[in-house]
Amino acid sequence: MSKFWSKLIQELSPYIPGEQPKNQALIKLNTNENPYGPSPKVLAAIKSAISDELKLYPDPESIELREAIAKFYNFSSSNIFVGNGSDEILAFIFQGYLKKSKPLLFPNITYSFYPVYCKLYDIAFQKMPLDKNFEINLEDYLVPNGGIIFPNPNAPTGIAKKVSDIENLLKNNNDSVVVIDEAYVDFGTESSVYLINKYDNLIVTQSLSKSRSLAGMRIGCAFASKSIVDGLNRIKNSFNSYPIDRLAQIAGAEAFNDKDYFRQTTNKVIEARQFLVEEMSNLGFQILPSGANFIFTKHNNKRAEIIFKELRNNDILIRFFESPEEINNYLRITVGSMEQMKQLVHAIKKII
Ligand SMILES: *Cc1c(COP(=O)(O)O)cnc(C)c1O
Repeated sequence: MSKFWSKLIQELSPYIPGEQPKNQALIKLNTNENPYGPSPKVLAAIKSAISDELKLYPDPESIELREAIAKFYNFSSSNIFVGNGSDEILAFIFQGYLKKSKPLLFPNITYSFYPVYCKLYDIAFQKMPLDKNFEINLEDYLVPNGGIIFPNPNAPTGIAKKVSDIENLLKNNNDSVVVIDEAYVDFGTESSVYLINKYDNLIVTQSLSKSRSLAGMRIGCAFASKSIVDGLNRIKNSFNSYPIDRLAQIAGAEAFNDKDYFRQTTNKVIEARQFLVEEMSNLGFQILPSGANFIFTKHNNKRAEIIFKELRNNDILIRFFESPEEINNYLRITVGSMEQMKQLVHAIKKII
């Protein structure tokens, strides 16, 4: 606290990111990173871009990156927006599209950055309870609103909605923007991106941090109608004309171009998830159905906090949420490599 803090600074409640420990020996399963690292082609492209050209500003429009993304999905680059991580894109969306007189709707258990942006931009919001199975009930969202946002699959539950359910929501919600945060969609969940061809109030965001293993580069993208993208560019160009640096533009484009590596590594994560789910069910865990690169789970009789602490003593870091109360006996575990999952299961067997 400083006497120079504005009222805004005083009243903020910033997001608390998962721990990034210095201890390299830890098996890090707490922030949903990808165990495999970026494609070798991405690394080669970054290395070749390390040159004298770094004295020049990057392309403010990130054309090459947007075209690689457009090509992957068969869109026009005018439907693609890119940002410094999808968190930055979400910030622009909140500021530009979700501040309305009616409240923004999002699930009561979801990505905890959403209420943080609401505070930053002074946006009214209403939390919509998940049902007893921790599922989002989209019928509940058919009420007057200033916008709707949720991750698909949801975080930290991992549970996905079907595209047909999302389309039904869009059909019945014409007067506000619907944002689908697809940070985890590539781990076996069907994407809603193609619905942008039909619904001009839809924005889909994706991240290169998880399925494309570039968390350290900070790249995200969004898909929407051209006029929505134009609006995002107006905000971006009123804030920072160059959010994506030269290395990130090249890395991101190459990550979308190397489809084989992307498919191989996401499939390996999905296989490791199946292994983990099977092993943990045998050890007395209840696991929510996951369409993501993490599972959300509780044990039938051992408290989540104890398991979390004992795994930590065994150099395995997972995520435990003290609040809200509904989830304070659950653990979120990132799906890593098969080898890491075997070590995790081994450690859990000792603890239980
Ligand atoms: C990780 C995550 C993001 C942010 O991704 P970045 O591209 O790394 O900023 C957004 N939404 C959800 C639900 C996430 O889990």
